[in-house]
Amino acid sequence: MLKVLKFGGTSVGTIESLKNVKAIVEGLDSPAIVVVSALGGLTDKLIATAKLSADGDTSYREEMKGIRQRHHDIIEALVPAEKQAKVSAEVDALLDQLEERYHGLCLIKLLPDRTLDEIVSFGERMSSVIVANIINGASHRNSLDYVKTEKWFNRNIADRPLTDRLIKETFALPLEGHIVVGGFISKDRDSGEITNLGRGGSDYTAALIAASLDADLLEIWTDVDGFLTADPRIIKDARIIPEMSFVESMELCSFGAKVIYPPTIYPVFHKNIPIKILNTFNPTAPGTHISDNVYDKGTVRGVSSINNTSVVTMSGPLAANVAEINSRAYNVMARNGISVFMVAQPSEVNSLSIAMPAADGEKALEQLVSEFSPELQSGELRSIDKTDDLSVIAIVGEGIKSIKNLGHDILTALADNGIQVKAISEGTSETTVAILVASENIKEALNITHSACFH
Ligand code: ADP
Ligand code: ASP
Ligand code: MG
Repeated sequence: MLKVLKFGGTSVGTIESLKNVKAIVEGLDSPAIVVVSALGGLTDKLIATAKLSADGDTSYREEMKGIRQRHHDIIEALVPAEKQAKVSAEVDALLDQLEERYHGLCLIKLLPDRTLDEIVSFGERMSSVIVANIINGASHRNSLDYVKTEKWFNRNIADRPLTDRLIKETFALPLEGHIVVGGFISKDRDSGEITNLGRGGSDYTAALIAASLDADLLEIWTDVDGFLTADPRIIKDARIIPEMSFVESMELCSFGAKVIYPPTIYPVFHKNIPIKILNTFNPTAPGTHISDNVYDKGTVRGVSSINNTSVVTMSGPLAANVAEINSRAYNVMARNGISVFMVAQPSEVNSLSIAMPAADGEKALEQLVSEFSPELQSGELRSIDKTDDLSVIAIVGEGIKSIKNLGHDILTALADNGIQVKAISEGTSETTVAILVASENIKEALNITHSACFH
C-alpha cells in the first residue's frame, strides 16, 4: 500500500502539532511519501517581510530573528540530539540566503516577482528538511529538482509530462523508508528560476506525486475533521461529509472550499486514486473519503462561495445568435487566460452574464468590448458593462439537477430574507447551481442557503 500524506501549515506549525505528525507517520505500516507545507503562517510572514524590505524598512532584521528562532526552537525540541548540529547548519544556510535576499530588496527598493517567488520557497525548503529529520528513518528529497513549471499567461503552471517523468526517476519503488518533501515549490523548466504552484499549492504537489507513482491513497491532513458541508468559519453548524465523489469535491473547491487547492483533484481523479481528508489534531476521526463512487445521487453534498467576483454583462437582442455570442465570449476568456466561474442568462433573456475573479474583470471587459465592437456599433448588442463586489454561492451534489424546485426554494428563502439574487445559473450543470449575490450579503446568504439545503 503506497500512501502520499500531505500535512498543511497548521499541522507543521508548532512543536505540539509536529509531535502528532511524527506519531501519524511513524505509526504507518509501510513507507510513505510525506509532503509538508511551510510552518503555519510563515508564507504570509515571508511575503509581508519582503514588502517591508522593498520599502527600505530595516525592521526586516527583527522579523528574521523571529523566523530563525521559530525554526531553531522546533529543531531543538524535536530533532534527535546527534542530528541537531547538521540540521541547524542546513537550515541556517537557508536562513542566511533568505536574509541576503531581504537585504538586497532593501537596497534596490523594488520587489520583482521572481525574487518574491524565491523568498516564499524558503518556507517549504526549511520545513521539509526539519520534518525529514524529526521522523524516524525518513529521508529528504528536494522538490525543486522534480516539480517543474512553465509559463501560462502571467502564471506558472505545472509541466505535467516533465514533472511526471522526474518524479518517477526520483522516487524508486518500492520505497525503502519514508521520504519527506516540501510542497508548493518548483522551478521553471526553461529558466531554472524558482517558482511555485500557487497559494495552497502543497496539496497539488502531493497529488502530482501520488498520480505519477500510482499511489493507492492521497491523505490530506489538516486542521478540521473532514470536508464540511460549508466553510466552518462562516457556517457554525456545518457538518462533516463522510463520503463524496471526485466531481463534487472539484466543484466545491473550485467554488471556494479552501480545504483542498482546486487543481489537486484532477491528477488523482484521472488515476482513480481516492483522497482522504483527515485531522492532524484528531487523527482517529473518520474524515472524508473522496472517490469515483457517487453516493446518494440527487442530494446536496455541500455549499461554498467565492468573494471578489466581477460580472461582465452583455445586453442586447442576443436571442437570434446567442450560441455564437456565447462561444465567442468564451473564446475571448480562454485566449486571455481568464477562468470563468459561471455563465448566466439572468431574468431577461436578452443578456448574458459572465462571472470571473475581480482581478480579471477589467481585462475581460476590455477584451469583450473589442471582440464585439462590430455588434456594439451595429446595435446588435446594446452594451457591455461590468459589476463589481459580487460573490458566487455554489450548491453542489451529483444529480441535483433532478431535485424538484431546488433553485426555486433557495431563491424564495433568500427573497424572504430580503436578499436580492443578481443571477442564477441552473440546469447547465448536473452537479452545481450557482447564485450571484452582492458581497455585502454573502454571509447571510450562505447561511440561508445552507439551512435551506440541510434542514
Ligand atoms: P492547510 O494549512 O492544512 O492546507 P487550509 O487552511 O488550507 O489548511 O484548509 C483548511 C481550512 O479550510 C479549514 O481550517 C477550514 O477553515 C477551511 N474550509 C473552508 N471550507 C471548508 C469546507 N467546506 N470543509 C472544511 N474546511 C473548509
Ligand atoms: N505554504 C504555501 C501557502 O501558504 C503552500 C501551502 O501551504 O499549501 O500558500
Ligand atoms: Mg491548504
